[in-house]
Amino acid sequence: MNIIQIPAFTDNYFWLMHENNNKHSVVVDPGACNPILKALDKNNLILSDILITHHHADHIGGINELKKIFPSVNIYGPADKRIPATIIVKDDDIVKLNSLNEEFQVIDVRGHTNSHIAYYFKNKIFCGDTLFSCGCGRLFEGTYNDMHKALTKIKNLPKETMIYCAHEYTLDNIGFAKLLEPNNIHLLEREKEVKKLLKKGLYSVPSKLENELKINPFLRFDNNNIINAVEHHYNKKITNEVDVFKYTREWKDREYD
Ligand SMILES: [Zn+2]
Repeated sequence: MNIIQIPAFTDNYFWLMHENNNKHSVVVDPGACNPILKALDKNNLILSDILITHHHADHIGGINELKKIFPSVNIYGPADKRIPATIIVKDDDIVKLNSLNEEFQVIDVRGHTNSHIAYYFKNKIFCGDTLFSCGCGRLFEGTYNDMHKALTKIKNLPKETMIYCAHEYTLDNIGFAKLLEPNNIHLLEREKEVKKLLKKGLYSVPSKLENELKINPFLRFDNNNIINAVEHHYNKKITNEVDVFKYTREWKDREYD
């Protein structure tokens, strides 16, 4: 399977997938039509399926125009009236697309929004705005409990899983992570690597879960460095993972971004 990374707007990524010798393709979260049309044209593909993770405009904004050009396109998404899905999917559903030889598993990852889902293929997760490299999405609709649960599901996937997130936020996220773990060698190495990639006009995602577990403060709510940093910052004892996550997220929302 081929995965084409389509940059859009200022920092979004759309993901276009297709098999060799098959003109049919699937795109995840088409927030705009034109960048996708260009990629389809360049690769001589037609669009058969759309996978939607959540309702935000930069993830669904291209659907209406794409539907006019590809009227029979299947649109997979969660049950949410804000999302124009033609095929509703829910947690644990296994879906076989005609355009790909692989099946994907739907994972409920509510938190960033109330109906956010992710699509998991063999060692690849398309997680929308739930997890970013070295960061996670803001909680616009869900609770800290919801998001902790969602991130725990991702944390427990095979370590070699590649995280296909929807934004290039990595360098900014590393800046925050360094406030909590200034001496984390993996974090400092990742910062160097990302700076090099971006300087060359390349991308820092997808990233490997194995590495995220070493650097991402929003997956490290059970790590002593993170617990100590948050306890010190808020000058209080924190006794459970959800609260470690909550205070880490609040710290970033209120004092960093
Ligand atoms: Zn979003």
